[in-house]
Amino acid sequence: MFIQTMMKLETFLVCIFIAVSQLVTAQKENTAQFQIHSHNDYHQNVPFWTAYANGLHSIEVDIFFKNDVIYATHGEGEIIEARTLENLYLQPLKKTISLQMGNSRKLQLLIDVKSEAYSTLKKLIYVLKKYPEIINDKNISIVISGNRPKINDYVNYPDYIHFDYQSLAEISDAKILNKIALISLNFKNFTVWNGKGRLTAKDLKKVSSIIKQAHSFKKPFRFWGAPDSKTAWKVFKELGIDFINTDMPHKASTYLNTLDDRIYYSNTSSKVYTPTFESDKKNIPIRNVILLIGDGNGLTQITSSVLANGGELTLTQLKSIGLIKTQSADDFTTDSAAAGTALATGSKTNNRAIGLDAFDKPLTNITELLFEHGFLSGCITTDRLTGATPSSFYAHQKDRSNISGIASDILKSKLSIFIGGGSKDFENSNFLENFVVLDDINLIAQNKSDKVGHFISETDPLSVLKGRGDKLAQAAKNGLQFLHNKNTPFFLMIEGAQIDSYGHLNSTAGIISEGIDFDKAITEAVKFADKTGNTLVIVTADHETSGFSIPQGNLENHMIEGDFTTHDHTGTMVPVFAYGPHSQEFQGVYENSDLFGKILKVLQIKTH
Ligand code: MG
Ligand code: ZN
Repeated sequence: MFIQTMMKLETFLVCIFIAVSQLVTAQKENTAQFQIHSHNDYHQNVPFWTAYANGLHSIEVDIFFKNDVIYATHGEGEIIEARTLENLYLQPLKKTISLQMGNSRKLQLLIDVKSEAYSTLKKLIYVLKKYPEIINDKNISIVISGNRPKINDYVNYPDYIHFDYQSLAEISDAKILNKIALISLNFKNFTVWNGKGRLTAKDLKKVSSIIKQAHSFKKPFRFWGAPDSKTAWKVFKELGIDFINTDMPHKASTYLNTLDDRIYYSNTSSKVYTPTFESDKKNIPIRNVILLIGDGNGLTQITSSVLANGGELTLTQLKSIGLIKTQSADDFTTDSAAAGTALATGSKTNNRAIGLDAFDKPLTNITELLFEHGFLSGCITTDRLTGATPSSFYAHQKDRSNISGIASDILKSKLSIFIGGGSKDFENSNFLENFVVLDDINLIAQNKSDKVGHFISETDPLSVLKGRGDKLAQAAKNGLQFLHNKNTPFFLMIEGAQIDSYGHLNSTAGIISEGIDFDKAITEAVKFADKTGNTLVIVTADHETSGFSIPQGNLENHMIEGDFTTHDHTGTMVPVFAYGPHSQEFQGVYENSDLFGKILKVLQIKTH
């Protein structure tokens, strides 16, 4: 009863914490609504439809009136006979209305008049009258830019016609002000910024004040002649510019509409442990080896966690650093099965293979080999225990998807301890008959059984963002103590699995929260190494995931903007950090399959 109450209290507090942190995050984010304007739209390969399909809210329609026809073009010399205003814009727009595409979306047609104002507008109104569904649609606004009539004449035009105002001079006549739908100014009048790096503090102030003045008209605002880049789009969004000008509708829309999801204000931290370095790089015998694998934890993933954690992690205290190449036997880009197998067996194999070579022959993995030399071993993961990474250290199956085959291999395995997710994978079987499965992770450390296990979930384990808490660090601490109590040398693999899952989802928040959580397990390992003096700690990754990059961020509020080149793994090298006796052996650049041999070498174990 008491425990249940405590659990409820804990769940309640976690919910409160999540709610509060989400509130804080929401407050920090700029919630200003931006819209994107397709500048010089007729220049697109497919005018109108490209902008429309990408959800843009404003399309520039350059028009030129000649021979009683309104053409969609920048100038008389570029006229293409069939490219009339009607063919290129009004007919397609009519089509979207009749087919109810992009329903109830606001759309501004910013008609940029390149020929004489009065005659062109007269003809334009004549043409528009043929499209009552457009001019009567409350969601469509028609705004005249470029060559415009005199401002006092604006009131003479129909209600559905509004104008672009390119000045900040006051308008006292309310009727005229009412005909203004947009304020546009030339960005180059205020700064020479080219969209790379930052606006200078002085220019930022100037530009901000212009936007503020423009907004005092209570009209949407746009800069033209503005830089057109990711950096610039982000700045303009943050400055609250209503219409962001672009010649790249698809890129700008993709970038801006994913920005909130790609930005993370970190609210978790790993308490950095400073190692004693007493045993580091010493040529003394090694008793235990802890191998920590951050799945998908490439250099940028690590960097993002480091910067979000205030500039350092326990990981970044370590001094012996190398890089490994991750290519599998049959592919430039490895999966976690082939990479896990390479780390666990010293042999490159095909993607999807668990503990088998490229010809389907079983390989001896490190837990089996060390067992012959008197070592105990264990696997800890934030994945299902049958996941490709942990199973490479105890199973032998042709395909990583053979979950029941992998689960059955645990019966024959040399593992003394496992902690991971997916108890369902072992249901209705005797796979675990030689393990004592404990319900409480904190009872593992002092348990005297030969073989123990603990499941952190029935199916997929929770992520940190979804409330997993400090499970991985607890697992590491308890697992290490359990093995230590056996007075026998051991090998322990600890996986931070979900850095990879969130890479696949292109989630900056997930990558960083899991990366920082992984560091807490690293901290337990390094502390254990200092306590014992004869433990080697190796931290690496199986591969990089998502082609992660961090173009921008803010150290003060722990903000990182992530960007991604893929939803899959990449072929880039990943770091290796080592600590403890002989850690210097792990420096340099080598293949993932070489790590195994290096571990055996420093353990002074010869293979035949
Ligand atoms: Mg994995
Ligand atoms: Zn993956």
